Amino acid sequence: MAGTGSIGKNHMLITRKYGSYVFLGEILTDWETITDERDPQDAMNHSICGDCDICQRACPTSILQGEYYETGRCMSYITQDKKVKDEDLDLFRGRLFGCDTCQRVCPLNKYAERSHIAEFKPLPFMRDPDLNEIAAMDNRTFKRYRETSSGWRGKKLLKRNAMIALASKGMEIREEYADTEYLKDIRERLLKRYKL
Ligand code: SF4
Ligand code: SF4
Repeated sequence: MAGTGSIGKNHMLITRKYGSYVFLGEILTDWETITDERDPQDAMNHSICGDCDICQRACPTSILQGEYYETGRCMSYITQDKKVKDEDLDLFRGRLFGCDTCQRVCPLNKYAERSHIAEFKPLPFMRDPDLNEIAAMDNRTFKRYRETSSGWRGKKLLKRNAMIALASKGMEIREEYADTEYLKDIRERLLKRYKL
């Protein structure tokens, strides 16, 4: 409504310059401004997408079909939830934290300008994560992950997701990776589900 962009079928705000790769902030002020009136429905009718439905087809949990979507079924949520259902393990497909598939496949992001702010760039060790290193992580090695957006849910969750990724590739999940009761249980479930 403020004219920053339009809402795509992936339910993201899509801006002209940066596509959907933006954060929204707000400023509370008593400064008098001139406003543009925009019909809220105009911002929400996905007109920016035209006939495209790439994100709807790419979403691993198929939740982008309707006007509203079940955020609890988004892989961003599922990969960060401590409880994970057996049937959802197959949906991870290597995702270690979050998803963003609906942003990565969006053609409107293809030529979006990237930020020059160094803090937004991926750290070198996150470009090509080593699954065994993450699954084996101790408190000392977790320190560098704690600095990242994937660190806030704790070490156990990243270890778990690395173990799920190893299992989905048919790779060994070493017993020593499961250093808590929670991870032991996950390892058992993975060994059983993927017949490792
Ligand atoms: S982040 Fe992933 S799971 Fe969530 S809506 Fe987008 S594609 Fe679907
Ligand atoms: S992928 Fe297509 S349908 Fe989805 S938000 Fe981007 S332009 Fe819209």
